[in-house]
Amino acid sequence: MATPEVIVLTDIKRDPAFGDRLTPAGQQLRTCIQCGTCTASCPSASAMDITPRKMWRMVQLGMVDEVLRSKTMWLCSICYQCQVRCPRGIPLTETIAKLKQLAIQQQIKQWRESTHFYLAFSDVMRRYGRMRETEFMARYFMSTNPFEALNYATMGLTLLRRGKLKPELPMLRGEGKLARLFDRVAELEGRK
Ligand code: SF4
Ligand code: SF4
Repeated sequence: MATPEVIVLTDIKRDPAFGDRLTPAGQQLRTCIQCGTCTASCPSASAMDITPRKMWRMVQLGMVDEVLRSKTMWLCSICYQCQVRCPRGIPLTETIAKLKQLAIQQQIKQWRESTHFYLAFSDVMRRYGRMRETEFMARYFMSTNPFEALNYATMGLTLLRRGKLKPELPMLRGEGKLARLFDRVAELEGRK
């Protein structure tokens, strides 16, 4: 039998109304019955440090700090599986997006690089409909530490020499085809 997940409470400030501010209709997370359907439906749950079911309980307990420091939001692919299956009809995907928005706003130090990686990736995908590695890496390093790019110079040159990395012209086929999708995600996360 699987060992039940244990939530360790630490002595930090709690915000009992935390969950009420996350969902559009307020107080919806209070109706969570901890059935675990969200975790069982989530394709990324095994990689998360806090599974969705556990996270909603922590939100109910007002554990703001622990929740915002979790990497769960960064692994959510906004697939809506948890939301459509939740027996309580809680808008879980939108709520995860809201948590990500809060984590970005508060510039949680440990996820700073993940935040910039995610934003650079989303922007390149939105603009071109596919990944352009050279532009993506340039954007990422410019927003974090440009000097860090020097550490990858040898690898980049090797990839270029072997034809694994190609300098590309700005205009590509498929440009903008994913724009609506990424605009919707940005809207959910409060970036638009
Ligand atoms: S599926 Fe809904 S009710 Fe069940 S644990 Fe997840 S949030 Fe709670
Ligand atoms: S929306 Fe996010 S949390 Fe929900 S099932 Fe999909 S990946 Fe998991």
